[in-house]
Amino acid sequence: METEKVKCLIIGSGPAGYTAAIYAGRANLSPVLYAGLQPGGQLTTTTDVENFPGYPQGIAGPELMEDLRKQAERFGADMRNGIVTATDLGQAPYKVTMDDGKVIETETLIIATGATAKYLGLDDEKKYAGMGVSACATCDGFFYRKKVVAVVGGGDTACEEAVYLAGLARKVYLIVRKPYLRASQIMQERVMNNEKIEVLFEHNAVGLFGEDGVEGVHLVKRMGQADEERYDVVIDGFFLAIGHKPNSDVFKPWVETDEVGYIVTEGSTPRTRVPGVFAAGDVADPHYRQAITAAASGCKAAIEAERFLSAKGLI
Ligand code: NDP
Repeated sequence: METEKVKCLIIGSGPAGYTAAIYAGRANLSPVLYAGLQPGGQLTTTTDVENFPGYPQGIAGPELMEDLRKQAERFGADMRNGIVTATDLGQAPYKVTMDDGKVIETETLIIATGATAKYLGLDDEKKYAGMGVSACATCDGFFYRKKVVAVVGGGDTACEEAVYLAGLARKVYLIVRKPYLRASQIMQERVMNNEKIEVLFEHNAVGLFGEDGVEGVHLVKRMGQADEERYDVVIDGFFLAIGHKPNSDVFKPWVETDEVGYIVTEGSTPRTRVPGVFAAGDVADPHYRQAITAAASGCKAAIEAERFLSAKGLI
């Protein structure tokens, strides 16, 4: 079994991973970055990114990620493709096994594996990906100004997204499968008091239709019951807000996670309970999940790694 020793290993290639690589590279840590399942991360699945500071005209998601990757490479980050299959974070140097069987022994580890938005599993979600289907209102809401959109979900995220979208769109349907919202009281009130939002309780979205993009959603009310009703609603955008799954499973025996799987860090730092192991970006962020907040936490993680190595006399 091939083993390689490194000082700083970064797992993940979204804004958190690449920003950590830029900072770690400039600090002479010779970082090695494994890109993971989706090189470039979630932004490679979006079209225009208009809220990343520094791009007054906006930038395409894949282009932004390509720029971040090149910037990290410029400072010597060693970019590789590969997926982590096992970890041993019991004691330093930490052992991380990749899918080609190689074991990386590292003094510091930055986990930036992101989170994956959950989808309903409809074929139409794939068919209309980037053409009216989105899992991020903050990213894509702007394109639906004065239009009609639907949000699926009844939790805090769905309510937040519905309220956010109501500030832009003409009308927002909130499609909730149960007869009640799961969200916190304050979010429920905000939704119920917003005249632009119509909550469709006990509704399931079962399909989408449209020529060159989403033009409507097929709904079922009280699915499977005697008084089941099926009808269509005309919409321009379909937003999923049924939860995210943080990609933390492979690190779970060692780092602490919350009940959903988000890695728990110390206060506003990226420190996990394992010294020298840091978590940055969406894998440790149930609240903001923005490219810029992920980038910021990647920066913090690299600075922490540099200080950790320096304190141990390893650089
Ligand atoms: P949640 O798991 O809380 O809610 C998911 C929602 O999606 C539920 O209403 C659930 O329905 C619904 N859902 C799940 N699967 C399906 C499906 N297949 N079809 C239809 N509906 C489905 O996720 P959130 O992302 O909303 O929140 C995650 C955590 O983050 C929570 O703890 C939340 O409180 C927190 N959060 C806090 C915020 C804040 O404090 N400002 C903002 C955002 C999130 P059902 O209820 O029927 O299971």
